Parts: sequence; C-alpha cells; structure tokens
Amino acid sequence: METIVLPLEAGASFNFDCHPKVPCFNACCGNLSQVLTPYDIICLKNHLGCSSGQFLERYAMVYSGPATGLPVASLRFDRRRGGLCPFVGPEGCTVYPARPGSCRLYPLARGAALDPGGKPREHWALIKEPHCRGHESSRTRTIDQWIRDQGLEDYLEFNDLLLEIISLRNKSGGRPLAGDRRRSFVTAAYDLDRFRAQVLDGTRNCGPEVAEKVAAAGASDTDCLKVALRWLRREMGGLHHGS
Ligand code: SF4
Ligand code: SF4
Repeated sequence: METIVLPLEAGASFNFDCHPKVPCFNACCGNLSQVLTPYDIICLKNHLGCSSGQFLERYAMVYSGPATGLPVASLRFDRRRGGLCPFVGPEGCTVYPARPGSCRLYPLARGAALDPGGKPREHWALIKEPHCRGHESSRTRTIDQWIRDQGLEDYLEFNDLLLEIISLRNKSGGRPLAGDRRRSFVTAAYDLDRFRAQVLDGTRNCGPEVAEKVAAAGASDTDCLKVALRWLRREMGGLHHGS
C-alpha cells in the first residue's frame, strides 16, 4: 500500500485515533523531515527550560528552503538511534505538551496561501501512510475538532504570520538569503532570546518603534515573536530585487 493524500473539504470528517495502545505506537517519530516553525521553537525551548540558542545548537539544523531560499529550521534526528526524533522515548513523546505543530496536525496536512485581500485561504488533506494504523479507528472527527483537540489554534495563527513573509519571498525567485540578511532572519525567526537581547541592548538596530514594542513585550515570547515576525515581514518586503 502506498501513501495516499486525500483532499478534504473544510467541514469534512475523518476516522482516526492515536493512543499508546495502537500497534504502530511511535512508528511515525523517526526518519522524518520535521520542519520547526518559530512558534514551535519557543514552545519547545520553554518546555525544555533552555534558551532558543541552546535549543538550536542541541536539537535543530538550519538550511535554505529550496522554494523560497529562506532559512528553514528542522529537528535534528538522532542517527545513533536509527534516525529517531530526539524527543521520542519508550512511553512516547517526551515533549508532548510542547510538541511541534506538524506532530499535532498529523494525519492532516494544511496548505495555505494568501488571497488577493491578504487573508489566508486554507486547503486540507488527509494523509494515509501504510504504517499508520490510526485510520482503522471508528472514531470520527471533523477538521475543527481535530484543531481543538490538538491545541493547534495558536500554531496556525503564527503559521499564517510566517505565510505573509513566505509569500513576499516567493516573488523574489527563491535565491537563498545570504550574509547579514540570512543571519537576521535566523535570529528573528528562530533565536528569539538573542533577537530580544540584541534589540534591547542596541546591538541590533530595527528602529525605535520595534525597540519599543520588544520592550513592551517584556518576557512574553509570543508577543516578542509577533514583533519579530512583523519586522521580518517588513524586511522581506524590501527583498524583491535581490538578497
Ligand atoms: S516531537 Fe514528539 S510527536 Fe513529534 S516526532 Fe518527536 S517524539 Fe514524535
Ligand atoms: S503511526 Fe499513526 S497511529 Fe501510529 S503512533 Fe503514529 S500517528 Fe499514531
């Protein structure tokens, strides 16, 4: 049996359940390309009690996305353990309350693009992979129920902020960001503790308005991330003709 991707209408329901008693438990937590969003990183680093810089160093790698040329962060899988996710243990996910949005979303996939008015337009699909036995369940849920059950609302909101940046970048031909612009992107999107510290101590000059908003965000990572992503959006808007 091959992987099947079934498009789903917005109100559609599907049969699925995943729990420690499924025979395939943990089968989906290895040999993946697990992209991490900026919001994933702040949830994980706070759960683990480390800084964003320490998280990147220990658990992530950053490469240039082929379509947009933007730096993409992904989980570094553990080759010594057969390519397993660094957070999978015998009892399952050891970071479950802070697991990434893509882990929460599975077996759904969400595509989103901005409409001419700048609003995200969603497309949904159900992924059926041969190893995943969760589809054999008789439990039925709608997409909205899945979003609620998996606590995905905030993840999707932050994904859409990122989508605005990706949309701008798509118009630039996808050449990889380089030099200072790449470093700025990685810092603002993925190393929020460093971004905050640099803006506050003046080593990163994003202008007085951004500095004021970062100061007003205080210790709130979500507020600071919104400021950082909006600043990046502005910066990416100026990249249409070069990188
Ligand atoms: S973060 Fe948790 S749910 Fe996601 S792949 Fe790793 S172990 Fe599995
Ligand atoms: S393979 Fe599917 S059913 Fe099995 S643990 Fe992963 S998501 Fe759950």
